Amino acid sequence: EQMATNVDPEKLRPRPPIVTIMGHVDHGKTTLLDRIRQSNVAAGEVGGITQVIRAWSVMHKVKDPETGEKVIESPITFLDTPGHEAFTKMRARGANVTDIAVIVVAATDGVMPQTEEAVAHARAADVRIVVAINKVDAPNANVDRTRRQLYNLSLLPDNMGGDVQFVETSALTGQGIDDLLDAIVIESEINLAGELLADPARPAFGTCLEGYMTADEGVMATVLVQQGTLKKGDILLCGANYGRVRSMQNDQGVNIEEAGPSTPVLVTGLGGVPNADDPFYVVEELTTAAKIAEARETKDREKTLNRFAP
Ligand code: GDP
Repeated sequence: EQMATNVDPEKLRPRPPIVTIMGHVDHGKTTLLDRIRQSNVAAGEVGGITQVIRAWSVMHKVKDPETGEKVIESPITFLDTPGHEAFTKMRARGANVTDIAVIVVAATDGVMPQTEEAVAHARAADVRIVVAINKVDAPNANVDRTRRQLYNLSLLPDNMGGDVQFVETSALTGQGIDDLLDAIVIESEINLAGELLADPARPAFGTCLEGYMTADEGVMATVLVQQGTLKKGDILLCGANYGRVRSMQNDQGVNIEEAGPSTPVLVTGLGGVPNADDPFYVVEELTTAAKIAEARETKDREKTLNRFAP
């Protein structure tokens, strides 16, 4: 089945990079994400952040190399999803939600099995890698050993003939967080130059990040807009579910009317709960959406039945 996902090159505009944080368990992924989110919130507001969706954007201020002043504002979207799973599923359908994978390695432990796995997944998905050597504040941190282990995975900095950026961080103290965000912006502007583009004018399509049901609002779905602009009232087809977008909330829990490329939004209005990684499209007619959704439903049901067939 073909959905119109063709984009007109003339209409492409820059869009924020989409970043996933991956690495071995306990190496600091969650703490790092919390830090990054806090770094973007005005002082005094920090305690009051309510995380509504598992994806959010920060506006990072990059230093002007001439004056040293932070003037250039650059948005970055972070996905707060379990990295590995997302990558394998996405790869199965040949789509990538992520542009940059931050591989977190604790300098205390060094490279561990899940670090290697994360690198393999990022490479297979053909996304850019930025390395964060974390926990550099810890007394037993061994940054040199960790670096050597990473070089052995062929992750090489430019002074060794590679092009991978290494940043030393402490998610605990906040050290290096700004440098990590700088590295992500550099990665976007240099190594992904000309690739982070989207047409904001076309009907939206993208990927569902999660779906669930609440007693008050019914079906809720966090979707990531990848192309086009999603608007309230649009007819959304998401996997085998469809409906008119009744409301949209941004990552701050604020109601919004429309969402452009690289924006994660929480939508209501779907008739059923979609799966994480379901692609979504905006379609013209409710009847078209119903027909495709029904065909998919039937196909899913047959697949399930076949699984139990003798
Ligand atoms: P995750 O499993 O990768 O998400 O790891 P967490 O973010 O949950 O961190 C695991 C543990 O390491 C927690 O106890 C954190 O407080 C601690 N931790 C995370 N980052 C740092 C760091 O930079 N320095 C130190 N010393 N501890 C850290």
